[in-house]
Amino acid sequence: MIIKPKVRGFICTTAHPTGCATNVQEQIDYVVQQGVAGTGPKNVLVLGCSTGYGLASRIVSAFGYGANTLGVMFEKPATETKTGSAGWYNTRAFEDKAAAKGLYAKTFNMDAFSNEAKEDVIAEIKAHMGKVDLVVYSLASPRRKDPNSDTVYNSTLKPIGEAVTRKTLNTDTKQVTEVTLEPASQAEIDATVKVMGGEDWELWLNALDAAGVLADNVKTTAYTYIGKELTWPIYGKATIGKAKEDLDRAAKAINANLAEKYQGSARVSVLKALVTQASSAIPVMPLYISLLYKVMKAQGTHEGCIEQIHQLLSGEYYSGNALTLDDHGRVRVDLKELDDSVQNEVERLWHQCTTENVMELSDFAGYQEEFFKLFGFGFASVDYEADVNPVV
Ligand code: NAD
Repeated sequence: MIIKPKVRGFICTTAHPTGCATNVQEQIDYVVQQGVAGTGPKNVLVLGCSTGYGLASRIVSAFGYGANTLGVMFEKPATETKTGSAGWYNTRAFEDKAAAKGLYAKTFNMDAFSNEAKEDVIAEIKAHMGKVDLVVYSLASPRRKDPNSDTVYNSTLKPIGEAVTRKTLNTDTKQVTEVTLEPASQAEIDATVKVMGGEDWELWLNALDAAGVLADNVKTTAYTYIGKELTWPIYGKATIGKAKEDLDRAAKAINANLAEKYQGSARVSVLKALVTQASSAIPVMPLYISLLYKVMKAQGTHEGCIEQIHQLLSGEYYSGNALTLDDHGRVRVDLKELDDSVQNEVERLWHQCTTENVMELSDFAGYQEEFFKLFGFGFASVDYEADVNPVV
């Protein structure tokens, strides 16, 4: 099959197996080249392991620290006539490369919110890992079925309190327009907290604890985004921000238990905004990220998923130095993005941005390039005219 990108709205419905493998290899190369500091984790569970920040966490753990990794993802396998999802190909490539290094790597393709996923993962840890010493919670999902009631909750991306009108960039038509988002109802806020809040993270840690598969000094972290004034109305102070606040509540509860029983810890880690499948679905974010890339690339401070997670694990959690914490005890690796010099410049450009000048004022070209790379497209070393078997 000759595989080309097919974009529908903010998603690309095809993925290229060779390109995805190249993406994984480039991230591995970065980690190997940088090296890592300190003594890292040995047995790592990554929930949401196949793309974005979760994949980067798995790569730093395995190829930086030589850890065994167990992952859970929700991805579409390939068939003879249809390509698999990018996360499917990333994971196949990751597993092959880990096996070539003699590293244990196993992945469950199932709903991480379910009780079955927790049972299967625990059985696998008991059989092949013994105990885990790092649990990364990196799920991004639009819905969650409550495992006990079977009720399905959908998350919404809406402001809270009053309607918000913001500039936005349609990544298909390249038009800068205004979008008005009506405020969420209380039921929508509650449902978003159910999906993207801390409840499932707690359920995971409780299940792992009860099964006796957590190691001494175990660490767990869930990822969040905070941002500043430009994104607060649609993120930080909106429905998704409410859900992320609930992670702080969960972190405290999990931390108390882990500290007492294992001398372990649970913390929320704050990461920067960048192009992933999850962020491209959030209104306003593509324009913000395109402007942010322009400003941070000009400053020489631009980072992608792998740089951020390398910094988080090697520069923070396992460095042996004091963590960079905020008042809520969250670990911060997003501070370069929030620096006034960056935010003020992004805001200045934001006000000037129109359909006519968006290509010059922003780094939309860089945004798009990165977006296609998420699906394995746009790598110079890959022959996209070559016939490839979609089933890897
Ligand atoms: P992503 O879409 O790239 O990855 C999501 C992962 O979750 C994938 O591995 C997917 O397979 C998995 N997943 C989704 N639903 C699942 C389910 N039901 N069962 C099992 N696996 C499931 O997302 P991302 O941008 O890497 O986001 C990961 C985390 O990082 C999120 O909590 C997000 O809020 C946070 N974050 C993202 C950004 C950003 O700009 N992208 C910034 C800061 C923090």
